[in-house]
Amino acid sequence: MKALRVENNRLKLADIAKPREETEAVVRVLKSGICNTDLEIVRGYAGFSGTIGHEFVGVVETATDAPHLIGKRVVGEINAGCGECESCRQGDSRHCPERTVLGIVGRDGAHAEFLTLPARNLLEISDTVSNEQAVFVEPLAAAFGITEQVFIEPDTKVAVIGDGKLGNLCAQSLALKSENVFLIGKHKEKLALVKRRNIEGILLENALKLNGSFETVVEASGAESGFNLALDLLKPRGKLVLKSTFHGEAKWQAWRVVVNEITIVGSRCGRFAPALELLENKSVTVENLISEELFLSDGVKAFKRAEQKGVMKVILSMAN
Ligand SMILES: [Zn+2]
Ligand SMILES: [Zn+2]
Repeated sequence: MKALRVENNRLKLADIAKPREETEAVVRVLKSGICNTDLEIVRGYAGFSGTIGHEFVGVVETATDAPHLIGKRVVGEINAGCGECESCRQGDSRHCPERTVLGIVGRDGAHAEFLTLPARNLLEISDTVSNEQAVFVEPLAAAFGITEQVFIEPDTKVAVIGDGKLGNLCAQSLALKSENVFLIGKHKEKLALVKRRNIEGILLENALKLNGSFETVVEASGAESGFNLALDLLKPRGKLVLKSTFHGEAKWQAWRVVVNEITIVGSRCGRFAPALELLENKSVTVENLISEELFLSDGVKAFKRAEQKGVMKVILSMAN
């Protein structure tokens, strides 16, 4: 089968053996989404080598443990735990110390014609969700996961920094809880995407006048400057949610966290089921985040596109 692989920090399209069912379900991938994490992995983050990709929709080909899933269209939770540690026994493999993560840690990923995952990681999707929408379940789950960590009330004033894919999904998720959500970014056309979800877009140069006015600020820009901007925007005793996996060493004024008694919350993956529900109910809009769709055979080119300025989600299609 064809697979997009990272080897020695280089991305290439390879021909490898199709995975066989041993203990896990085999899924024929229909579409996969290129994420910023993928771009960072190619640059060497996580020291990963193998098939990358963790956002996908596919059809279950074999699953001895879960025959009812065979032939079903599914998405899959990306963390696969040991099943025995305290975290796994509580039904949450996201913090299992032994976990593997699809296309990120110790496990071949989704930019391929087939992948394997434990059957318990797979969720069937309804006909009302298109393949393109389903590719967004993973990033949407990550965005909506914030609402499990931080309590947001209808009048909580929230700012999201960063108008890229992640910031957009965070803002839409938070706007389901609060009527006071602002998205701060550098691009008018990206800020305009959330307008009909009742989110106010603010250009970065105009954000100054909002200093000290937010109870919650989500940093989703992936830029070091986002940390200090977040501290500018927060009210005393506010909550700062760090959402982008920033890999540099960030310099920021830690004393301001102390003096203003800021609570810092790190936030990574979310649960898939609530995110799927949001897509089913059309509570969020994801289609307008798709910039381009290419075939897996053009995967290397697709990554180059995804790296370009202004490009949002690039989707790979396997059927070719
Ligand atoms: Zn991702
Ligand atoms: Zn475990």
